[in-house]
Amino acid sequence: MGNKELARSFDQLAKIMEFQGENHYKIRSYQRISGTLKKLGSPLAEMSMDEINAIEGVGKAIAGKIQELLNTGTMQTLERYKSEVPQGILEMLNVKGIGPKKIKAAWKELGVESATELLYACNENRLVELKGFGAKTQQEVRRQLEFFLRNRANFLHINVKEMADHLMEILQSTLPSIQMSWTGSFRRCDPVLDKLELLIAAEDDVLDEILALPDMSLIEKRAEHLSLAYQEIPLHIYLSTPQDFVLRLFASTGPRALAGRLKGAAYTNEEACFDELGIRYLSPEARALAVAGAQPPDRLVRREDILGVVHAHSLYSDGVDGLEEMAAYCKGAGYQYFVVTDHSQIAVYANGVSRKNVIRQWEEIDQLNNFAVDRFRILKGIECDILNDGNLDYDDELLAGFEVVIASIHTNIRMNERKATDRIIRAVESPHTNMLGHPTGRLLLGREGYPLDMAKIIDACAANRVAIELNASPYRLDLDWRWIAKAREKEVLISINPDAHAKEAINYVDFGVKIARKGWLDKEGCLNARDVDAFLTFCGK
Ligand SMILES: [Zn+2]
Ligand SMILES: [Zn+2]
Repeated sequence: MGNKELARSFDQLAKIMEFQGENHYKIRSYQRISGTLKKLGSPLAEMSMDEINAIEGVGKAIAGKIQELLNTGTMQTLERYKSEVPQGILEMLNVKGIGPKKIKAAWKELGVESATELLYACNENRLVELKGFGAKTQQEVRRQLEFFLRNRANFLHINVKEMADHLMEILQSTLPSIQMSWTGSFRRCDPVLDKLELLIAAEDDVLDEILALPDMSLIEKRAEHLSLAYQEIPLHIYLSTPQDFVLRLFASTGPRALAGRLKGAAYTNEEACFDELGIRYLSPEARALAVAGAQPPDRLVRREDILGVVHAHSLYSDGVDGLEEMAAYCKGAGYQYFVVTDHSQIAVYANGVSRKNVIRQWEEIDQLNNFAVDRFRILKGIECDILNDGNLDYDDELLAGFEVVIASIHTNIRMNERKATDRIIRAVESPHTNMLGHPTGRLLLGREGYPLDMAKIIDACAANRVAIELNASPYRLDLDWRWIAKAREKEVLISINPDAHAKEAINYVDFGVKIARKGWLDKEGCLNARDVDAFLTFCGK
């Protein structure tokens, strides 16, 4: 075991102990020894016990721990502390820029149990409410978390998108005359990836040019295949001839079974591949369900079909932008209506809206709406909490006043399948519910959803004319696209909703549409592709 690893063990011990609120002096001594060991000139493994004892800050207890680490590779005290803390907390303690005290506050006050949940809390602007956190700290924590999450074995599409776009620009300017494309799961817009894959129509010698770019490091080089890390993200580069490029692109985007049926000519574009297969062309994200001999629906939903922004939070609850600003953003992006849905009263953690403020919001909406002039409308919506017993969070009279009610679970989320399914079905059966929000409550790479009998829930939605949300937040993407076909079979409508807590997050809809296309959602089956009148008719208003 090297000095750095030894230092890391003491650092980790100090962090966990601080999280646990242990003796301050002990913690300080472990922090100090960690710093000393990091800078030590000679390897501890080659030092005698006397020499180790002579290091500043090393007392009897620390000397014993160093010896234990050198002899066994582990430290019992550290292992014991580690076993007392949830895995997600240990993970968060490794994130730079947020110390154990702040992690503890987020854990205790907000129930945050993993780095992804913490990032989600930042995005929902929750951290600023905690003692010791300001907007600036929150910003910094978010930056560090994004970096941390990018660097884990799996990462979210949203956390690499910008970096990948930037890298593509660099590559294209470095190799201007060479054909190249992203391929694999990134090109398919999979929500979670473990690497980036790039196809290049070129010879071996371009690889040296790529390797010379900043932040690139080589992992393995094989014939026609280079495995690299770019800013520590695995990057696989495949080489092809210019003639084979389209076929290779088609095959590596998948499904491979389809590619296997192609004769393998020099295709000029992927449309030609689809032509040969006799299947209507599908954009890369919509190919997962494609099989030979079957046609996709002829009109998959597109971004430009979406007319209304449904599900967004304003300053009335935990959003960071005002109602008017959010509406203006929607209008500017070409939408025709905006359904503001703040949190209901029980959501104290998210500044849930009291009855009085609901009325105030309705008045503001009435003042802002001038449909005759601007052909744009704000609808009175709510993201109403589903209480533990499945009832909704306001009385019937108030609920009847909303134009759109999304019912979602945010509290008491540890449930078995039966309890979770029953609770949701009860909410779906409420005459006020128009839509089920983020059905499983999952956070990608952060929190598993509660176990659900989804088929039963879809049946209940069908029976009660309730739509299901495809929550387009790239951290949720819930309903999972794999359930869309089932929902459509039962004629349940899907609404592609940004769940925006800031106006820019309204653009989550774009990615949500791609995910919906994975599940072959047709325009007909998309609730917010309907105009405002049809949307309101569906909501019974
Ligand atoms: Zn929600
Ligand atoms: Zn929400």
